Amino acid sequence: MSVHSYPKLEIRLDYLRENTEKIVKLASEFGIEITGVIKGATGIPECSLMMEEGGAASIASSRIEQLIDAKNAGVKIPLIMLRIPMISEAEDIVRYCDISVNSEIEVLKALNKEAISQGKIHKVLLMAELGDLREGFWERYEIQEAALMVEEGFDGLYLQGVGVNLGCYGSLDYTVDKLEELIQIAEDIESAIGRKLDWISGGSSRTIERLLEKDIPKRINHFRVGEAPLLARDLETYHGYDMSFLHKDVFTLKAEVIEVKNKPSYPFGTISVDAFGNKPHYEDRGVRKRALLGVGKADYGSSIENIFPHVEGVKIIGASSDHTILDIEDVAEDIKVGDVLSFNINYGSMIFLTSSRNVVVELIKK
Ligand SMILES: *Cc1c(COP(=O)(O)O)cnc(C)c1O
Repeated sequence: MSVHSYPKLEIRLDYLRENTEKIVKLASEFGIEITGVIKGATGIPECSLMMEEGGAASIASSRIEQLIDAKNAGVKIPLIMLRIPMISEAEDIVRYCDISVNSEIEVLKALNKEAISQGKIHKVLLMAELGDLREGFWERYEIQEAALMVEEGFDGLYLQGVGVNLGCYGSLDYTVDKLEELIQIAEDIESAIGRKLDWISGGSSRTIERLLEKDIPKRINHFRVGEAPLLARDLETYHGYDMSFLHKDVFTLKAEVIEVKNKPSYPFGTISVDAFGNKPHYEDRGVRKRALLGVGKADYGSSIENIFPHVEGVKIIGASSDHTILDIEDVAEDIKVGDVLSFNINYGSMIFLTSSRNVVVELIKK
């Protein structure tokens, strides 16, 4: 039990379930199965349960401990390890996960050995590198060889399919071209192994763009989505899609006002660097009304651009580890010490807020 009430992160679990339901329904119209990705919310087990209730066919994370938590919380659907397993965690991957994402033969060998010794068949999804330059086999012959090896040489593994991830490092979009390239890779593998692959895994939340445009190539049949059910922000912010069919307020950050004063907007004295060694720019706007909040970068991460005030006119002008400074000169309502202000969050701040022991997480289900 926490000794303080704020900062608080409210999570509307019912909204998360409803978002998952809507995405599952939309995807099913195109024959696509949905995996719910929980890493953005640091694998809070109730979030996994809500995605399961909302119709996700499986749950995925980049962190094994979050998948173990999901299992312990009673999640029944398959669990997927989304980051290439470390060889050192092969035993736990096989023990706790049904499927893992892979791009290295050495890792596949380790998983195979573990699966055989645990008497299990572990499923693998092979990742193709299509230009985003994070994980994936680069040369076409390499993924083909790996697929054949899994299919014919590794008794402990089952080849579930192939997948791609874009938009994480190289900022690439899931264009029709890229998805068709993935299908080509899949079909070459299918001819080589003489059967259909279970999954051609087209991507993450941003692939939902292809459903909204109704131009998703036919053979894509699996998506792995976290950002869309949790936040529903990216496709609207970066691509201009109307995402109002989803709740954009699954998460609300609440912080308490600890000081309200009129102060100059330009620091006085000898200016060098701030608490983080940076040299920020200060604009002299004269004396302004400001509020100080009991929340800071230790809670929501390194940028004040990761939280968005609900109250109109509130402007975040700076922050240190444990304080956030607001300009409230232009705010109509009277903000007082002890008031609690609400904020929307984004992916960056979600990761910090859900994993910080400074933040009280309140799970709400209406
Ligand atoms: C994080 C991740 C996802 C989910 O991405 P979202 O943008 O949260 O939908 C899907 N696939 C892989 C491989 C990932 O690492």
